Amino acid sequence: MIPTDRERQVLAPYAMFSDESAGRTFEEPPHSYRSPFQRDRDRIVHSSAFRRLAHKTQVFTGELGDYHRSRLTHTLEVASIARTIGRPLGLNEDLIEALALMHDIGHPPFGHAGEDVLNECVQNSGGFDHNSHAVRIVTVLEQRYPEFPGLNLTGEVLSGQKTRQKQPADEGAQRGRLLEVQVVDAADSIAYDSHDADDALELELLALEDLLAVPLWREAAARAQQRYASLDASALRRATIHQLIETLVSDLVETTRSRLATLEIDSAQQAAAAVERVVAPSRDFQEQKATLEAFLFERVYRHPTVLQQRTAAGDALRTMFNRYQEQRAPLPPRYRQVAVRDGLARAICDYLAGMTDRYAWESYRQTRY
Ligand code: MG
Repeated sequence: MIPTDRERQVLAPYAMFSDESAGRTFEEPPHSYRSPFQRDRDRIVHSSAFRRLAHKTQVFTGELGDYHRSRLTHTLEVASIARTIGRPLGLNEDLIEALALMHDIGHPPFGHAGEDVLNECVQNSGGFDHNSHAVRIVTVLEQRYPEFPGLNLTGEVLSGQKTRQKQPADEGAQRGRLLEVQVVDAADSIAYDSHDADDALELELLALEDLLAVPLWREAAARAQQRYASLDASALRRATIHQLIETLVSDLVETTRSRLATLEIDSAQQAAAAVERVVAPSRDFQEQKATLEAFLFERVYRHPTVLQQRTAAGDALRTMFNRYQEQRAPLPPRYRQVAVRDGLARAICDYLAGMTDRYAWESYRQTRY
């Protein structure tokens, strides 16, 4: 069966069908058995920027051990949760997966600390944010195919990523977002809420008792305890994470289903035109999630251990940027070419953003003097 026929049989009318895709910048013949969005997914997985996510910080750096999530495993959890949400809603899972696997591909080393420092370094040359950088990677920087620069992805994957860029509040940030794009956003948030709590507990930045003050966690823990009579602390933590994800996903799917019915959405275009977010948790869960996120912000993202590492990593990246800016160290030839076309600051930024945490530290130490 050709992929587009299969989509017509299994997807809901409001899904994004690949035979309605806006296509690619450089035209290519269709593949005989992979849909355009499947090809996008495969191109992303085979890109070097994707592989480097394995050695990039999500929240906690490699110095803290190897239990916690890296940017890559976070990405895989997002893809898994997003597909779980997409299937009962009848959405295009190939598109969802491509979007999910791409969503953090533009992250520099050292997580948000790295992003803030790079943004500051190139403030006068357009700034830096990981969402825009993802688009730059897949349209300009990746070199995998002789025929075109970048990965030549479909318009839907590119525009989905573009809607993640920071937009002025008055532009109705939700508008123009396919349901598949909204699913990935929702899955991203479910993934980090749950895995950051899990990682922080494992790293002993938090104690189980601390999290019991948060209603969403408390209720998930109560359900876990009800289901399994006696669990030690770490087994309870894992069971609670399962319950938490299950609860958030179920609420999201049910709420989205009823919103789709209330708004009488029966095409992808109509869904994208909706002013409000269609794929979103119920009001109750939105509030509960916000409470958990505020707690994680205060207690985990601003934990002294995390802040200390952020500062050290940010300083290293800034030092490297200045060294290349003052031309005390030569850029690799590839980035010298970028400098000719897009300016030195952007070229340095591209080079540094592409580094893994490990490579960035090594390169910082080697060229320190
Ligand atoms: Mg993410």
